[in-house]
Amino acid sequence: MDYYLKCIECGADFDKTEIIYTCRKCDGLLDVIYDYDEIKKNMDMEKLKTAPPSVWKYKDLLPIAIEPVSIREGGTPLYKCDRLAKKIGVKELYVKHEGMNPTGSFKDRGMTVGVSKAIELGMKTVACASTGNTSAALAIYGAKAGIPSVVLLPAGKVALGKIGQALMHGAKVIMIKGNFDDALALVRELCEQEPIYLLNSVNPYRLEGQKTIAFEIVDQLGFKVPDRVVLPVGNAGNITAINKGFKEFVTLGITDKRPKMTGIQTEGACPIVKAYKADADDITPEKNPETIATAIRIGDPVNARKALIAIKESGGMAESVTDAELVQAQKDLAQLEGIGVEPASATSVAGLKKLVDAGLISKDETVVCVTTGHLLKDPEEVISVCTEPVTVEANLEALRKAVFE
Ligand SMILES: *Cc1c(COP(=O)(O)O)cnc(C)c1O
Ligand SMILES: [Zn+2]
Repeated sequence: MDYYLKCIECGADFDKTEIIYTCRKCDGLLDVIYDYDEIKKNMDMEKLKTAPPSVWKYKDLLPIAIEPVSIREGGTPLYKCDRLAKKIGVKELYVKHEGMNPTGSFKDRGMTVGVSKAIELGMKTVACASTGNTSAALAIYGAKAGIPSVVLLPAGKVALGKIGQALMHGAKVIMIKGNFDDALALVRELCEQEPIYLLNSVNPYRLEGQKTIAFEIVDQLGFKVPDRVVLPVGNAGNITAINKGFKEFVTLGITDKRPKMTGIQTEGACPIVKAYKADADDITPEKNPETIATAIRIGDPVNARKALIAIKESGGMAESVTDAELVQAQKDLAQLEGIGVEPASATSVAGLKKLVDAGLISKDETVVCVTTGHLLKDPEEVISVCTEPVTVEANLEALRKAVFE
């Protein structure tokens, strides 16, 4: 399949055989550009309509020629959530639960493609900075590929489940005395100097894997397109990726419209929201981002330029929520729908509620919220926001008292 990399700022082209993360001329972000006419000619439309969703179902639209490094990622459930819809006040609400991926977050979609690309390019070591989930995904795909992985984490700010995964799958785990943005700047420098493949979402191949969320949503809605997709935004790769997926289906004539991409951040870490509200085309980095949603505790999102374009061209918006609002949404998802998510994921639902309450989203819309990571990622947060279990003596009288009190 034919494709190349194109700078979104100056338009410079780069060959697919190059090991490159940003434009050599202007340092702009890169996009993977395909020959869509060729894809259209070769695509098996019957299979597209009948095979069950998974990342590699859409391999005609992915930039990998080798047998991929895969542990069966994607194919996550799209739940119709009537009780939650009623509480929020929208007509039709679905939740795409990305916590049901192999490591419990959507990062697996990016890493199955990213680590496959590393192997295809002949790279022998992979690395990333991470707020947690990227490190878990890199560790597991590195293990599956049989190559070493190095992960940089902000010391003291990563949820326990994620560190556990990175360690058990055998990554070299390095804690940085700084925040995520510091860790990312460091690992980018390291990968420029050493033959180590960088797998943060600045790498455009990661986003190619993540765009399959859009394909699956369309697929699972019976080839209908929702009015709006709402999701948490951290480094801003996923909102960019999902938007690209919806665009490609339109380009290929599979669908005829696109959803409004709506990004949610927390009040303590919301540079994209501020830029959106100021109608600016780039962000002002925040020095000390802080939120209970550690997965999106990011002050200088690397994909900001791409994300702001995606939000604008899709007619979407960006909004921020408080930690208290996202914890309430986390409990609503868990207790009204049986969907267990980590704090960052719940911002999608909290943001939707805020925007519906404010009259900025119509109650007649069909909305898909993406929940990005699983509840078990961050057990410490759960313990801190739920009421403590009661402890009683081991006799029936004490038990009755506890049950019926
Ligand atoms: C990575 C991550 C995000 C943020 O995604 P970006 O592509 O960085 O915007 C949100 N939620 C969870 C659970 C994540 O792991
Ligand atoms: Zn450029």
